[in-house]
Amino acid sequence: MIREKITVLRPESLGEALKMMADMPQAKPLAGGTDLLVQLKQGLITGACLIDLDGIPGFAGIDREGDHFLIGAGVRLEQLSRHSLVKRYFPALTDAALSVASPNLRNMGTIGGNICLEPRCLYLNKSQFWRSSQGNCLKTGGSVCFAVPKGGHCYACFSADCPPALMVLDASVVISQWHGGQIKERIVSLADLYADDGQRHLLLNPGELVTAIRIPVTAGYRSAYRKYRHRKSIDFPLAGVAVGLLWEGGVISNVRIAIGAMASAPLWAREAMTILEGKTYSGDILREAAERITSGTRAVRNQDDSPSQRRHMIRVLFQRIVRDLVIENVTPVSPTRK
Ligand SMILES: Cc1cc2nc3c(=O)[nH]c(=O)nc-3n(C[C@H](O)[C@H](O)[C@H](O)COP(=O)(O)OP(=O)(O)OC[C@H]3O[C@@H](n4cnc5c(N)ncnc54)[C@H](O)[C@@H]3O)c2cc1C
Repeated sequence: MIREKITVLRPESLGEALKMMADMPQAKPLAGGTDLLVQLKQGLITGACLIDLDGIPGFAGIDREGDHFLIGAGVRLEQLSRHSLVKRYFPALTDAALSVASPNLRNMGTIGGNICLEPRCLYLNKSQFWRSSQGNCLKTGGSVCFAVPKGGHCYACFSADCPPALMVLDASVVISQWHGGQIKERIVSLADLYADDGQRHLLLNPGELVTAIRIPVTAGYRSAYRKYRHRKSIDFPLAGVAVGLLWEGGVISNVRIAIGAMASAPLWAREAMTILEGKTYSGDILREAAERITSGTRAVRNQDDSPSQRRHMIRVLFQRIVRDLVIENVTPVSPTRK
């Protein structure tokens, strides 16, 4: 139950929304609300003033502009997952959008909200009553991360499905701010939007909004995303893998591999990328890359499954994706736990 009074502001243009963000840096942008409203109910956000982004003209378009696509932050995941050109050029994004939650949540949830999703933890995403039994963790104002008491920072897990897929597609985000009486934009690579720290995982400055996603079109680029979760629908990923590559004359190139739900940010699997890059495909090279795919990640016990099982599933999903991409060039289907 939401007990406190919430102010909801409804700007009619992007400029007005950004001006409100500049005037009230403590205000939270509200997109589809599928996560934000749950956070409010759980008392994870208090003293809220919300700036409703729904209905801002031009915020929900999918347009091709020369050699890239521009996807508005307000595009609903259902619209994104059904878009024929997105499916043709960016299959990993279609996979990821389709794997989020359930159709009704995808009808409300936006790509901007997915990119900016708050990280999750077994000790955090609970009712206020449940949490009151053990006091505040680092992320809610306490001094200890309950998942890793000696860790020194918050290990909440970034569990959004679309960002790893967008990373392998070489996506950038357009970030806008009200500055000097006008809209000022900066463009950053999506991977650079994140930090592996559950308390400040999103590198946005006060007053900034993600307004669009920019994805280049690369001829012949193959990509896919798969996630491991308990149920086939309405479940956040316990592990997620996205792979993108070119496959020409039996040789793999332009490999990008991103891993989700293993840290407070989506991560590159750099060692596995190096092993595969420029190689002729074989079972041995794939197994070698799989062995190294979680190097540098440090999943902790803050999800509904053990870190070792989640790492194992990353290796399994990765091998299935690459086999499907190079041998079948089919869009794979995500498995569920038995
Ligand atoms: C039962 C359930 C299951 C779910 N399962 C999944 C799942 O499997 N995979 C998954 O990825 N997600 C899942 N979600 C979470 C959520 O539905 C999606 O991530 C959705 O895409 C969030 O988008 P939204 O528009 O609703 O965001 P909101 O809830 O409106 O916002 C989310 C966060 O992003 C911020 N924000 C929103 N837009 C912007 C912007 N343009 N610029 C800056 N900040 C912004 C908000 O302030 C807020 O902090 C689930 C949610 C529920 C309730």
